[in-house]
Amino acid sequence: MKPTYARVIIDRAIHRELDYLVPDGFADRVDIGWRVRVPFRDKSALATVVAIPEQTEATGLRAIEAIVGEKAALNPKLIELARWMSAYYCCSIETVMRSLLPQVIRRGEVSWKKQLFVRATRIIAEEEVEKLRKRAPRQADLLHAVSQLTAPIPAADLLRQTSLDNQTLRALQKRGLVELREEAVARDPHADEQFVATTNLVLNVEQAVALTALEEALANPGTAKPLLLHGVTGSGKTEIYLQAIRSALARGKTAIVLVPEISLTPQTVERFKSRFAETEDMVAVLHSRLSEGERHDEWHKIRSGRARIVIGARSAVFAPLESLGLIVVDEEHETSYKQEEAPRYHARDLAVVRGKLENCVVLLGTATPSLESYFNAKRGKYRLLNLTLRVDDNQMPLMRIVDLRQEKRKAKSLTILGEKLHSAMIDRLEKREQTILFLNRRGFSTSLLCSACGEARDCPNCSVALTFHRTASRLSCHLCGHTAAVPKKCPACGEDALIYSGFGTEKVEANVQQLFPKAVVRRMDADSMTRKDAYRETLRAFRAGKIDILVGTQMIAKGLHFPNVTLVGIINADLALHLPDFRAGERTFQLLTQVAGRAGRGEIAGEVFVQTFTPFSPSIQFARHHDFAGYFEQELEFRERCDFPPFRHAVLITVRSAHEARAKFSAETLARRLREALPDEFILGEPSPAPLEKLQGQFRFHILMRGEAIVRLSRLVRETLDKLPLPEDVVASVDVDPYQLL
Ligand code: ADP
Ligand code: ZN
Repeated sequence: MKPTYARVIIDRAIHRELDYLVPDGFADRVDIGWRVRVPFRDKSALATVVAIPEQTEATGLRAIEAIVGEKAALNPKLIELARWMSAYYCCSIETVMRSLLPQVIRRGEVSWKKQLFVRATRIIAEEEVEKLRKRAPRQADLLHAVSQLTAPIPAADLLRQTSLDNQTLRALQKRGLVELREEAVARDPHADEQFVATTNLVLNVEQAVALTALEEALANPGTAKPLLLHGVTGSGKTEIYLQAIRSALARGKTAIVLVPEISLTPQTVERFKSRFAETEDMVAVLHSRLSEGERHDEWHKIRSGRARIVIGARSAVFAPLESLGLIVVDEEHETSYKQEEAPRYHARDLAVVRGKLENCVVLLGTATPSLESYFNAKRGKYRLLNLTLRVDDNQMPLMRIVDLRQEKRKAKSLTILGEKLHSAMIDRLEKREQTILFLNRRGFSTSLLCSACGEARDCPNCSVALTFHRTASRLSCHLCGHTAAVPKKCPACGEDALIYSGFGTEKVEANVQQLFPKAVVRRMDADSMTRKDAYRETLRAFRAGKIDILVGTQMIAKGLHFPNVTLVGIINADLALHLPDFRAGERTFQLLTQVAGRAGRGEIAGEVFVQTFTPFSPSIQFARHHDFAGYFEQELEFRERCDFPPFRHAVLITVRSAHEARAKFSAETLARRLREALPDEFILGEPSPAPLEKLQGQFRFHILMRGEAIVRLSRLVRETLDKLPLPEDVVASVDVDPYQLL
């Protein structure tokens, strides 16, 4: 039956779905998921069709103006997913739709890159070429080349091969001998790379057990639970992903692999591209560094069905593949899967929801499961698979805890490298083995204090101290990007008494270089990696053994393989531990385990030094003994006692304004209304200043709620907010399952 009406969500936020008439000419193409142009007020707007209702209560309907695209942009399951997100994450459907479709697709502006192709208009005889040669020798050369072509080729390539120019080509065109035609070609961000095809490795026993479980799930996707693959670093998880994808393809299905943005390195992409090298377009890659044009091409490669595997960061969970058979979420514990702007979704959780909607298998892999996922496995909601051994049979590295309190007593001042780490580094340099030093803080000095009046240089917009960057010779705020010149004297009291204190990676690098003048030391953090290729170049040099000591932030903590690294130093393990965040302990445990996984991947056993002022904190002790289960038990006990996730969901409202009093007043009013609206099953916290009270010039107040029935809580929060008119300069945002509690 031909559709009479179409229900659409227009891209602009109006919090309402609208019905339009479907003109006869469009009837065979208007369906759920199509993009259309509709009249809206006195303009026209882009929109997505979300339903084909048989009847409508609306009156005075207007008609759809145009169809956008040759195919539905989204399938009905993705629209179902969008509705779920809207209800769960307390977020308008328009905002959700915006994440589902990349901007370049929504706008429909960028199209395929066009290239000029050349071919002969007819068969050219050699005599004809020779005849032409007398008058125009260059044209004759080019004509000869064209006459030899078996297929049209890009004009630019032809001219390069023959060393002839465009003018000559145009002359032949004028003579009617060659034809030039524009054709669409894909921009391939990996065009300059060659992929050598690889084949399945022979699995070890543990891997084989895990793959069998996956095969079972793929055979019965309707009833299979999500699988949690808990495998130590280097246990061969990626090989299992590859073989499971192969198996999904063999069943005529497609697959998505989610990888944290930071781990989406050329190395990772290459592993997938070379295993699935049978067609050039088999693997599409989605990440934030693609140009608009590249994103357009990759998206169409997926939508048209040419790409059957998508590897990408967070938003690739929305990849518009058909017949989805498998979603892999690598490093499922990574907090970067959480989007920190609306819609504030968590890609791992969405993968599980999408899996359920599309009857597809979901595989979560990690060396350090998140408490949420491990809890789900323990409760039987997920199926747990274990890989306890490293593929190469290497020992887990030896973890040594260095008590910084003792080191400080010995050295009298705060040293960056304790004695033990220092001598281990000397030993590695002698043996020509490599060292990684890890510190999760950029810059040179973390604060600039006046020893006369005690004033610190704080960011004018945020409640944090400015960090001194020596290379740039500026003070900068790591939260809002504000920068300032370095004062010679204290701007508050005028004394020449400024002292630098605290340290970041820049100072570690300088300090290490001073201690080991002959060693090659490099730093890898957001400051030193501003150039596009710097990251790749540094890693290449490190792999080739041209760097002895690599200093860096979390950029170097994850997913990289360096067989010659036998020593890892964690300069300060306490950085995350003392944040006012209930996940602080979990993050520290994960970080130590992940960083430690960098050591000793080759023939030689690795050693890890963890410098800390709190050597007996559980996350450090359990990480030291590689005891995940022990850590999990004690952390879970703490979470249960405090009603925190995974026992309860949390919902965090942030109320912010440039005017402190107005933000505070609004937060208090909102909390009062919530107290009236929420039944007793929900825990409602007092409104209080956020730990980070001021950010980017805005004063911030928090209201934390907890409960089990999250969709219900979301709806009550939405209704309360809708009924409460906030002053114009006050904004309230809702974060469901929050990860940023500062
Ligand atoms: P993980 O993802 O768990 O860190 P990887 O899949 O990257 O581990 O495996 C680590 C290394 O071991 C890789 O170089 C990989 O090619 C290799 N590897 C994995 N499985 C096998 C196997 N069954 N036989 C031989 N080598 C393997
Ligand atoms: Zn700031």
